[in-house]
Amino acid sequence: MPSRNGSVCVRLRSLSKLEDKERCVWKVEDHYVIHTDADNGRRDADIRRDTDARRSSTYTGDHVFGPESTNEQVYREAVEALVHDAVEGKNVTIMVYGQTGSGKTHTMGTPEAPGIIQRGLMDIFELIAEKEDRDFLLRFSFLEIYNENVTDLLSPEKVPKPLLIKEDRVVGPVVLGLSEEIVTCPEDVLRLLRQGEARRHVAASKMNERSNRSHTVSRMVLESRPAGCEVSTSTPVIVSNLVLVDLAGSESVAKTGAEGERLKESSCINKSLLALGEVVFKLSEGALAAGAHIPYRDSKLTRILKPSLGGNCKTMIICTVNPAARHTEESHRTLRFACRAKRVVNTVVVQEVMSETAAARWQAKALKELQRRRAEGMCVRLVDF
Ligand code: ADP
Ligand code: MG
Repeated sequence: MPSRNGSVCVRLRSLSKLEDKERCVWKVEDHYVIHTDADNGRRDADIRRDTDARRSSTYTGDHVFGPESTNEQVYREAVEALVHDAVEGKNVTIMVYGQTGSGKTHTMGTPEAPGIIQRGLMDIFELIAEKEDRDFLLRFSFLEIYNENVTDLLSPEKVPKPLLIKEDRVVGPVVLGLSEEIVTCPEDVLRLLRQGEARRHVAASKMNERSNRSHTVSRMVLESRPAGCEVSTSTPVIVSNLVLVDLAGSESVAKTGAEGERLKESSCINKSLLALGEVVFKLSEGALAAGAHIPYRDSKLTRILKPSLGGNCKTMIICTVNPAARHTEESHRTLRFACRAKRVVNTVVVQEVMSETAAARWQAKALKELQRRRAEGMCVRLVDF
């Protein structure tokens, strides 16, 4: 039965020290994000009495976080359960949407201020360690979409070539040639993320703020099977994906005053975010159930995220909002996107596969672990696994 497996979270940040000259025109109250300046600067109290004004300037989500919220709180209240779902075999996508500087990266987490990524990784590996009845194999990939080119951020090549996307009827979109690394602890993933981020910055040396001009998609594939059973093509393997998407800033070209290369970047970003908005809009209108056309193919972003948008996936979109008066229009846009996304309906089932590739990967894992233990001077045999 399809149900609302997607959920939307809104996070309003406070003004930073650098923005002390800005006017703060948004607040969070009773699970609502409220534009306090909706009617040319009338006082809040007046607005609250005027229900019409309040309605037109009030938004909500499944979770609403105000300026005092911490990354810890956002994780525990909105994300933790999804991480558990991924370990239980369900596909999960977490996406951050908002204009540049609204708090997307802060919410995802940085080494200085751990967020969804760091907390999620700790939980995943803890949960897996507790599941003694199943053996897990985790693989990780990290790609960037920049100017409508898909790049492997973990590629061993110095200058990675743009990758093609192939549509597989069974598994959905496949990015051809994308590296996948087997990971065995949170540090493995954090190292790969650092490696990928560094690659992103190296390529961007001539362009400042590239990180805000490209989308990144990191994917952890979790495969599990009953503990201790022999690797064979007939062993059912449960496969799930945990996908994290850091979207480029959603500000419009007009606002950034872009020209030349920046204009190309901006129009690519706008094109893909527009395509994302269009796909979400169609899904929110029930296009999937009606068998109507959904324009996934209009951008690389929507092609890659097809399984997360209306597919077999629990998808959480976190919309981040800057409270400054100067950004009012963008904030309304972000919040309208959030409202639409709330109406998207997904169907989620646990997937079991029995395939030769799954068996081959288990062999590869066993070999890798064997090599690691040998390197550490341990005497082990393959049958130990
Ligand atoms: P984005 O990735 O959306 O461009 P960032 O996450 O880089 O934005 O945030 C811009 C600035 O605001 C950073 O200095 C960040 O530390 C700060 N910031 C963002 N959200 C919060 C928050 N909720 N609390 C405190 N500081 C925040
Ligand atoms: Mg960012």
